[in-house]
Amino acid sequence: MATVTTERVFNFSPGPAVLPLEVLEQAQADLVALPGVGSSILEISHRSPAFDRILEETLADLRTLLGVGDTHDIVLVQGGASLQFSMVPMNLLRGRDAAADYILTGTWGTTAIKEARREGAVHVAWDGAATAHDRLPEPGEIRLSTAPAYVHVTSNETIQGVQWKREPDVGSAPLVCDCSSDFLSRPIDVANYGLIYACAQKNAGIAGVTVVIIRKDLLARSRDDLPTMLDYRTFVKNGSRPNTPPTFAVYVLGLVCRWLRDSMGGLAGIARHNAAKAKLLYDVLDASGGFYAGHARPDCRSDMNVTFRLPDEAAEKAFLSGAASRGLVDLKGHRSVGGIRASIYNAMPVAGVEALRDWMLEFRRSRGG
Ligand SMILES: *Cc1c(COP(=O)(O)O)cnc(C)c1O
Repeated sequence: MATVTTERVFNFSPGPAVLPLEVLEQAQADLVALPGVGSSILEISHRSPAFDRILEETLADLRTLLGVGDTHDIVLVQGGASLQFSMVPMNLLRGRDAAADYILTGTWGTTAIKEARREGAVHVAWDGAATAHDRLPEPGEIRLSTAPAYVHVTSNETIQGVQWKREPDVGSAPLVCDCSSDFLSRPIDVANYGLIYACAQKNAGIAGVTVVIIRKDLLARSRDDLPTMLDYRTFVKNGSRPNTPPTFAVYVLGLVCRWLRDSMGGLAGIARHNAAKAKLLYDVLDASGGFYAGHARPDCRSDMNVTFRLPDEAAEKAFLSGAASRGLVDLKGHRSVGGIRASIYNAMPVAGVEALRDWMLEFRRSRGG
């Protein structure tokens, strides 16, 4: 049988996205029988000792990688980041007089706010829509309400390709962050956050599991009339196992954590790796005399999703088809922004980014650049 590995392309999908080859190979090796267990991870009980160990190690590795202190709980839930658009305001806003403040830096924040409005008063503290979400606010532009229930930000806007370099100062209000598309891609100071949520399928694993990190004192805000499965306390009390968790997705998340820890030098190491990859592409943009026009303002650019346009749609089509024939796939930008989007998450190898860079240089030359 031909080895699958040699047929792999460079996959720039925005999510679900590329996984580390080591992780795929480990999952493949374990799939028929977990060592010492004799059954597949797909077959064992979520209450079995083998799964106890997987869950425990995954949560411990997340805690160590991110430096999460005793002040915060970490839980794993289902429903994707999109369910968090509802769970956050259900638990932290419902029944309160204060408003929840949202800083809108792109499509995902705009989607999140729709759900918050169903739960209570919402205040838009800043909105970058006027310039197509090509930048983040300057500190002086953020207008918070009085004593907000929380302030919500999106650390990396996956569609526009803008990323906070560090979290905004929101005073004593709890900062809530959708970290879905840069989770585990760099160190963050968890102590600055009231709540962090991230689906796994961009940087941290596969679809089906979402990580929520919540400051313990905020748990007291949830009302007793919440549906059991939408109440964060249910997941904290039951160690992320109130019912059957997505066992395979938790297992893959655990493998990715171990890969970050043992092969990539933790979050500081992966952050250097990610910044170096992003620089390879942004340098091409900057030296292209406007041929490759970046969507995000240079000081707000994402290390995860590199978004740019070519002179016209015909050129973009030719660029994409040439890329695909070189094994560089899933580079089409989101329909709302257009152009090209190269998602270069944790697991995208440097070789993939170099191959894309080379194609960008070649394509521009072929157009007389
Ligand atoms: C992908 C993404 C989401 C949506 O995640 P689902 O798990 O599909 O609900 C939300 N926010 C951001 C920033 C994302 O990148």
